Amino acid sequence: MTQKLSGIAASNGVAIAAAYMLVDPDLTFEKRNITDADAEKKRLHEALDAAIAELQQIKTVAEKNLGADEAEVFEAHITILEDPEMIGQIEGKIDSDKVNAEEALKEVTDSFITIFEGMTDNTYMQERAADVRDVTKRVMSHLLGKNLPNPALIDSEVIIVAHDLTPSDTAQLNRKYVKGFITDLGGRTSHSAIMSRTLEIPAVVGTETATTMIKQGDQVIVDGLDGVGIVSPTASDVDAYTKKGDDFTKQKAEWDKLKDEPSVSKDGKTFTIAANIGTPDDVAAVNDDGGEAVGLFRSEFLYMDSSELPDEETQFQAYKKAAEDMHGKQVVVRTMDIGGDKHLDYLPLPEEMNPFLGYRAIRISLAQPDLFRPQLRALIRASAFGNIAIMFPMIGTVDEFKRARAIYDEERQKLINDGVKVADHIDVGMMMEVPAAVLIADKLAKYADFFSIGTNDLIQYSFAADRGNERVSYLYQPYNPSLLRLIKRVIDTAHAEGKWAGMCGEMAGDQVAVPLLMGMGLDEFSMSASSMLQTRSLMKRLDTDSTAQLVEKALDAETNEEVADLVKDYMSRLN
Ligand code: PEP
Ligand code: MG
Repeated sequence: MTQKLSGIAASNGVAIAAAYMLVDPDLTFEKRNITDADAEKKRLHEALDAAIAELQQIKTVAEKNLGADEAEVFEAHITILEDPEMIGQIEGKIDSDKVNAEEALKEVTDSFITIFEGMTDNTYMQERAADVRDVTKRVMSHLLGKNLPNPALIDSEVIIVAHDLTPSDTAQLNRKYVKGFITDLGGRTSHSAIMSRTLEIPAVVGTETATTMIKQGDQVIVDGLDGVGIVSPTASDVDAYTKKGDDFTKQKAEWDKLKDEPSVSKDGKTFTIAANIGTPDDVAAVNDDGGEAVGLFRSEFLYMDSSELPDEETQFQAYKKAAEDMHGKQVVVRTMDIGGDKHLDYLPLPEEMNPFLGYRAIRISLAQPDLFRPQLRALIRASAFGNIAIMFPMIGTVDEFKRARAIYDEERQKLINDGVKVADHIDVGMMMEVPAAVLIADKLAKYADFFSIGTNDLIQYSFAADRGNERVSYLYQPYNPSLLRLIKRVIDTAHAEGKWAGMCGEMAGDQVAVPLLMGMGLDEFSMSASSMLQTRSLMKRLDTDSTAQLVEKALDAETNEEVADLVKDYMSRLN
């Protein structure tokens, strides 16, 4: 029977394919006392053998589809499963405690994980804890006769159905076969949504019920334009949505014609349209889509895509590649923004009641210079190969910015003293994401070379509404006059101090917000590459005088909806 799901439109386009459930099975079990230890050890070995065979198969396919680097982790997992020390301990527990294999496996691997995670001065061993957790899951699934999803093995077109998606999930996906995403969790600015836009894959997030309503193999339509999912569609649904997808593709072809044109308003004012990226490989799409800069390189995605902490050299290569591939156009790299909804398996952070208000972003970098300094060194070294700028995330106070900048100055000086080639000047700026920082922007502008407004977080902190929680997603109110006043304050203050102001939150590519932001004089608009040409096309139709008048009215309105209506009315009167 046909069923309809509604959620949040996260990435444009329409996709129709079979469902692939990226959902972990329930791996809970009962602890049992056993009498036949040999039989239990036999079960253990059968599960170990099955897990190794499965990993070997995944590794072969991953090598072919994703490359040797992505496949390496599976070899590491096989090595763990062959470790005589660990297997000996599990067998010993079955013999001595007379417990079932599941219990023995859990107790022994838990103790390894605790020991590894406790080695706080040895990141290599901390990283191994995540590997042990992963392989334990796989062996457990075989003991319990359940199947783990193995996305690396996908070899036909699918729609990925998941509770939520993490960057490491997506790293294992073969883009050739993944046609769409639909998830239970997430809002428009959750990282699963942002990733789907970077990958240019149609997506609907925050449906709450996708994983319960959809079964493996069901035909699913994902309408990322209107935030709708259809399970087991009728033939006429398929026809209608195929047409909707085709119309969107045609519209995109029109926008594509603007690829090599500048971003100018109707009255000749120039703006910069830039892209948000997660890895240097995304630069190809930025150039294809006519990007004039990278306004936000989310460097933490390098960390999240990797099974271990990327060292200075690895990071240097990544930043250098991005800078070189942009051919002199600016690349603003944001230093590591971990925490909140972004985790690193190999760098466990303390459990917190409010991770978005906790230990994250620049707060971690300032507290853990062993992470921060190598990143800054990598960036400063890469500056010799292109036009790199650096920005710090989540700055809330002048002191935080000054401390971060002082560490940067120190590392730069050290590299110069060592004779390393670095750019003569690197812009060092900050994200405007914390309302307290907005209110003290005039002071911050004395130290920062530029501001980039991170509306995804600025909105969540201004309205006190978790950006990933679909129950409070109605408070994602980018046009609310309260937020517009904060944004205007950042732009005006930057200009008064002779600095530039950009925006790299999702709002910068929002077609209702663009006229308002132009009217406020925002200098740089940084967004998913897939939204850039549509935005350039819109800019050409608008003039900065009438958009400035529109801003006056918007600032004096009462609600988000009232402002959205003002913009729609303004747009309807354009020729
Ligand atoms: C933002 O907060 O607007 C932003 C661009 O950063 P992120 O989405 O990565 O938190
Ligand atoms: Mg942010």
